[in-house]
Amino acid sequence: RSKNLGRSRTEVFARDTHIVRTGQIQLETDLRKAIENEELELFYQPIIDLEQGRTIAFEALTRWHHPERGFVSPVDFIPLAEDTGLILPLGRWAMLESCRQLRAWQSSFAGTKDLFVNVNMSAVQFLQDDIPATVAQCLKETGIQGRNLRLELTESALVADPDGAAECLHAIKRLGPTLALDDFGTGYSSLNYLNNFPIDCIKIDRSFVGRVDRDDQSAKIIRIITMLADTLKMSVVAEGIENSEQHMMMRSLGCRYGQGFLFSRPLPKEEATAHLKASLK
Ligand code: C2E
Ligand code: MG
Ligand code: MG
Ligand code: MG
Repeated sequence: RSKNLGRSRTEVFARDTHIVRTGQIQLETDLRKAIENEELELFYQPIIDLEQGRTIAFEALTRWHHPERGFVSPVDFIPLAEDTGLILPLGRWAMLESCRQLRAWQSSFAGTKDLFVNVNMSAVQFLQDDIPATVAQCLKETGIQGRNLRLELTESALVADPDGAAECLHAIKRLGPTLALDDFGTGYSSLNYLNNFPIDCIKIDRSFVGRVDRDDQSAKIIRIITMLADTLKMSVVAEGIENSEQHMMMRSLGCRYGQGFLFSRPLPKEEATAHLKASLK
């Protein structure tokens, strides 16, 4: 009996897997086309100085409006892009497009010399792409200063090949860009990473930030992270600030910068431009 159950379970599983796979293959084909036809779009979420209220940067976040399926979340297509190698052209496009946008903002508005863009980099890009070459090419093509570009990476980019990653990060930094460790607190979070890699900024994951106003334990952990960052001369950005209690808490816990729906959702470029214009006044 248990054997039968086992077999039928396997069959059901196989059928489901097949359906999922067929969908995945279609989605893969569509994503490939979307990249070729430039159907992807970048949204920009402001990163705020929590003391002065100024916008200091924008994080570029990729959006895909699928012709039939509508909006597909990056949570669904980034893993697919990673599995299929499409993350390489996608990642290069995202970096180039954000730098072009920054260049446009810098030529339209005074007071944007220090504004920077944050671009997300997948671990797969670290393993498969020559990121320093991609960065160099991108800076050359857009004419922005290296220091106006910040790459966001997660700890997963560092685990597979720590020596190779360290070399790659140093090569990036020689070109001027700075580095942020994204989703801090959710991954392996080995303190070694902070010590052994040239990281400039820690982004505290929104799972901590989202309960800092209700949960004493999260507040204590955040305090430790900001103290650690201070000691290591890194800046700290809080992700996912949604209400003013969280804003105040993060400030009092020593976190200087933040982003979240309280300040702004990720915005299409025209709205990001309007936001920037208003924040410069
Ligand atoms: P992430 O880099 O941690 O980006 C922050 C995510 O939090 C974004 O989700 C943003 O919309 C969301 N967020 C910001 N503030 C709030 C808030 O107050 N509340 C809540 N609930 N969410 C907030 P999004 O745009 O869906 O992106 C999800 C993830 O997809 C990103 O997480 C990043 O890991 C990845 N991603 C997006 N664009 C790219 C890209 O161009 N390249 C790569 N490699 N990854 C990307
Ligand atoms: Mg990010
Ligand atoms: Mg993040
Ligand atoms: Mg995240």
